[in-house]
Amino acid sequence: MNRTEIQTLGEFGLIDRLTSGITPKDSTTIKGIGDDAAVLDHKSYRTLVTTDILLEGVHFNLEYVPLRHLGYKSAVVNISDICAMNGRPTQLVVALGISKRFSVEDIEELYSGIRIACERYGVDLVGGDTTASLTGLTISITCIGEAKKDDVVYRSGAQVNDIICCTGNLGAAYMGLQLLERERIASAGDNEQAQKAFEGKEYILERQLKPEARRDIVLKLGEAGIRPTSMIDISDGLSSELLHICKASGVGCSVYADKLPIDYETAAMAEELNMDVVTCALNGGEDYELLFTISQKDYDKILPLEDVSLIGYIQKAEYGCNLVTRSGNEIKLKAQGFDAYSE
Ligand code: ADP
Ligand code: MG
Repeated sequence: MNRTEIQTLGEFGLIDRLTSGITPKDSTTIKGIGDDAAVLDHKSYRTLVTTDILLEGVHFNLEYVPLRHLGYKSAVVNISDICAMNGRPTQLVVALGISKRFSVEDIEELYSGIRIACERYGVDLVGGDTTASLTGLTISITCIGEAKKDDVVYRSGAQVNDIICCTGNLGAAYMGLQLLERERIASAGDNEQAQKAFEGKEYILERQLKPEARRDIVLKLGEAGIRPTSMIDISDGLSSELLHICKASGVGCSVYADKLPIDYETAAMAEELNMDVVTCALNGGEDYELLFTISQKDYDKILPLEDVSLIGYIQKAEYGCNLVTRSGNEIKLKAQGFDAYSE
């Protein structure tokens, strides 16, 4: 593949290359790329804003993460945060710090992933910043969204007796990461060996490398006339997110180990690695599923929704936050989460 040094284009040339052909499509975007600031119009809606920073070596490892996937995932994790507010993601802003190691083609590859995510979720890329960095790649993405005032769902709304729900399945992205890490060391660059080890494990790899935001669930909840009482996206692991909801809402909870949704590949990988699959489901990060609570009155409405599991109940604060094991024992939930500072 060609390698064009970034100096040959310069900052403005690079921005032009990266943003060529990008035109706003959403009706809330008045002005996108090309001025000192983007101009948005959310009318009578609430504006939602979220940002995430991703540092090479801390949040991603380019030895096994393709740049296109990295771009996609960087956008999706932000879009997921807007979904977790029960909002509609509308715009994205991308800031990059790029070291000399990266060519124009590399950054275009990253952008191809960001563009695919924008198209898939109907989000306009409306601006950013581009600068040189001394070491590695830094990606900071901000996502903007909107929701009607009464539709916004906070972490703080869970009530005693509410039903705790989660989407999709848990622990898969973490198992994917464990597999990638193991093969990075075991295969030491031998692609063929790594490919063999990945056979039959495509799902957990995809969950790690190409996560999706559950915009579909937000739409389905709306159609079903269900407004969750609280919601959060699962980026650091179920335990950690449940504790966030309970703390913000001033309540406790019971979740049942045998209700946790776990995919077959996740269970098989955990067994292969001699790990407890429930622990992986509770503490594995980066699933980007939605965790939410609903009022008991919405029980009949939630049942027909596909890909939603009912995993427990909200309790009084005095009860604490507990996992009920298969044998009926109660274990206090701990936030072992996924912490970039812990390594
Ligand atoms: P300023 O000097 O006002 O910071 P820039 O020259 O950095 O402007 O950017 C020019 C335009 O290109 C702005 O609209 C900015 O939002 C956009 N832009 C800069 N970098 C990126 C990027 N990496 N991705 C998308 N848009 C970008
Ligand atoms: Mg700038």
